[in-house]
Amino acid sequence: MTNAQPAAPLVPDVHAIPRKIAADGKMNLVGLTRDGMRAALIAAGTPERQAKMRVGQVWQWIYHWGVRDFSAMTNLAKDYRQLLAENFTITLPEVVTRQISADGTRKYLVRIAGGHEVEVVYIPEDSRGTLCISSQVGCTLTCSFCHTGTQKLVRNLTAAEIVGQVMLARDDLGEWPVQGAPKDETRLISNVVLMGMGEPLYNFDNVRDAMKIVMDNEGIALGRRRITLSTSGVVPEIARTATEIGCLLAVSFHATTDAVRDQLVPINKKWNIATLLDALRAYPGLSNSERITFEYVMLEGVNDSKEDAYRLVELLRGIPAKVNLIPFNEWPGAPYKRSSGNRIHTFADIIHNAGYASPIRTPRGEDIMAACGQLKSATERARKSRAEIAAEAGLGKV
Ligand code: SAH
Ligand code: SF4
Repeated sequence: MTNAQPAAPLVPDVHAIPRKIAADGKMNLVGLTRDGMRAALIAAGTPERQAKMRVGQVWQWIYHWGVRDFSAMTNLAKDYRQLLAENFTITLPEVVTRQISADGTRKYLVRIAGGHEVEVVYIPEDSRGTLCISSQVGCTLTCSFCHTGTQKLVRNLTAAEIVGQVMLARDDLGEWPVQGAPKDETRLISNVVLMGMGEPLYNFDNVRDAMKIVMDNEGIALGRRRITLSTSGVVPEIARTATEIGCLLAVSFHATTDAVRDQLVPINKKWNIATLLDALRAYPGLSNSERITFEYVMLEGVNDSKEDAYRLVELLRGIPAKVNLIPFNEWPGAPYKRSSGNRIHTFADIIHNAGYASPIRTPRGEDIMAACGQLKSATERARKSRAEIAAEAGLGKV
């Protein structure tokens, strides 16, 4: 440790460190890639030849031990800890409220810079615990059955805000390892799904950087197959999910004809079912052990007939796939109803008999509006009217 000189305040080199500096001049280390952190530490006065080792140490404190205070980084010399504290912060989004459902589901309302809010949901099950995180505040897309789609996009989340959601949930669940305690392999958060607010493929770089951090072996170390990214079908970005992140893919399919999908998932007007299926057939690394999940929301009288089920089977042919049937979760002003249990089971049986797994997703946390598609910040800035929602759904006046 040779940094006896007090460090000069960090002068950001915008090219080396493409990240935001807080008003107090300090940079948040959370969300930086290893390369980004290296550049930041060097810019703050870390000698280049030490930089790799320093990144390794700081990384482990932040992402393995969950430490937020530089003074707790006890394998670093005091003057280096001071240098870090003068230049950097370790900051997560702020949890505004936490609600716990009767079924154990937890929903966090989280505030990010600018006063915006997003939601994060933790779903405990017998054999796993899934954390559903958001990638944008609101969504630019306007799927007519989705509550988030009624909220205009405010902005993309940064990588810090995305990985921060995983970290704050670990805080709340007490999941960081305790130094000196025997290693505990049970994982409360065993899976992460990008199925909260926003379209992750419209914020690709930040989602990728955040997921790389979550997967990094020296930190949170979640395996790539424990992460699922759900897209509405942003065709040009789909292959990058495999090549640059390597996680599993889910697609919000929801309809078996272009006419219906145009209304439910309007991005279909840009990339229709045939184009989407071509991209999925070409998905790198697709195999029986890494199947694509087709999400299919069950809407009464809209997409839930036997004919739909048979058409879906035809469309899936040749793609290693499973179909996740999601009973529609209602929200105030929603223009659809949930299909009956009978319809859903008949549909599931047809898919199943054709050789595809077709689980029916049990709605979780409905009492706290935490179920799929119910997320929406209560303090949103811009709200679409009921008439706009109905028009987008092709329903005319409601
Ligand atoms: N934007 C991405 C990920 C977020 S939505 C996407 O659309 O894939 C996660 C899943 O919940 C999607 O399949 C979405 O279509 C579904 N969903 C949205 N609103 C819903 C609702 N009200 N009931 C049930 N599922 C819904
Ligand atoms: Fe956006 Fe996904 Fe909701 Fe569609 S379903 S509006 S893409 S969050």
